[in-house]
Amino acid sequence: MDFSLPEKILQLKEEAQDWVENVLNPLSVPLEEEERVPEELVEELRNGRFRFFGLTIPKEYGGEGWTATEWFTVLEELAKAYATVRLVAHTMNGLFWRPLLYFGTEEQKQHYLPRLATGEIWSANSLTEPEAGTGKDINSKAVKNGDEYILNGHKWLITLFPGYTKLIYAFAGTEEGITSFLVDVPNKGLVLKPMEKMMGCVGPRHYNVIYRDCRVPASNVLGEKGKGLDVAFGMLHLSRVSIAFCEVGLAQRMLDLAIDYAKRRSTFGKLLAKRQAIQNNIAQMGTEIQAARLLAYEAAWKFDQGQDIVKEAAMAKLFAEQVLIRVSEMALRIHGGIGYTKAYPLERHFRDARSFHFEEGTEEIQKLLISRYFLK
Ligand SMILES: Cc1cc2nc3c(=O)[nH]c(=O)nc-3n(C[C@H](O)[C@H](O)[C@H](O)COP(=O)(O)OP(=O)(O)OC[C@H]3O[C@@H](n4cnc5c(N)ncnc54)[C@H](O)[C@@H]3O)c2cc1C
Repeated sequence: MDFSLPEKILQLKEEAQDWVENVLNPLSVPLEEEERVPEELVEELRNGRFRFFGLTIPKEYGGEGWTATEWFTVLEELAKAYATVRLVAHTMNGLFWRPLLYFGTEEQKQHYLPRLATGEIWSANSLTEPEAGTGKDINSKAVKNGDEYILNGHKWLITLFPGYTKLIYAFAGTEEGITSFLVDVPNKGLVLKPMEKMMGCVGPRHYNVIYRDCRVPASNVLGEKGKGLDVAFGMLHLSRVSIAFCEVGLAQRMLDLAIDYAKRRSTFGKLLAKRQAIQNNIAQMGTEIQAARLLAYEAAWKFDQGQDIVKEAAMAKLFAEQVLIRVSEMALRIHGGIGYTKAYPLERHFRDARSFHFEEGTEEIQKLLISRYFLK
């Protein structure tokens, strides 16, 4: 067993740290302050140091073809940036091109993947509905009409970036069962309506995606008709590992902030860092983060070996989420009252951390998946 990371990956990790601190964070301020995605930030993501939209897309479709392990090592660092940067990194590199590769026709792959790899087009996934639970019971409908389908339905809470998102995955009931569609944006039958402001992940709003007699060519069916849930859930396993790395990265960031604060703040004549109670908390946080990181690496490594990761991905996501919540709580306490103000980034990270519960399946859903393995 070898736990060391290759030199190349360690170098990428260091470069990513520097990129976040010195380039991405300064460009990201308008996300929180003005709820606006600055063009300079988009330009840096598209054509800056990493040209990062294509990092994981296979080389034959214009990407860099990084393995999961390589990508996640860098993603852990990007998760320390503003939440929008993390969301774009996670969705565009970890998630939204994969269904095309696994389920798309060669024509669909050639049409979309090279443009996703340059960041010319961004994609979004519209699964969750207001009147249905946790993804699976879908009310949206699609009816075949000649050589096209007519979609009707309402999705919400969808992460998308108007002006940049040009492709939306849609899931709707057809005669054969739930079917997956590639919806090009704009489309006359597609209405994008911003949702209420979120608690965290401030920047662009999340969206209601309303399909109102939305016409989609039959050639834009993705995968087999009636097998849309395979497309929807097929992409979720690796995506859970991606979320786990994001959670580890953010937890590490909050621990680092807490350590930095504890080394500077004196109470009753002594630095917080010299108090045993604070040292215990720091030791606990560091140990839990490392355990979460190792679970995530195991899942990533197994994926790169071509192994099934349903259980490992769910475990990695479940545990990293629990660790992140505990760490955010302890890091806030160490900061004292000033940590509760916007004077320190901890307040923003604390809010952002709460979004992970809902991404790629809640804690309850991960436990359902894991328990199946133990009870079968
Ligand atoms: C920041 C953010 C970004 C998002 N981006 C997207 C996106 O891009 N695309 C998209 O489609 N969705 C997106 N979502 C929505 C997200 O996927 C859902 O919120 C999540 O899947 C939970 O579904 P729900 O909100 O319908 O909760 P519900 O299904 O109503 O569940 C409510 C609670 O009950 C629990 N529960 C539900 N069913 C069971 C069960 N069978 N057993 C035990 N407990 C259960 C859940 O775990 C949850 O805690 C996003 C959400 C957030 C917060």
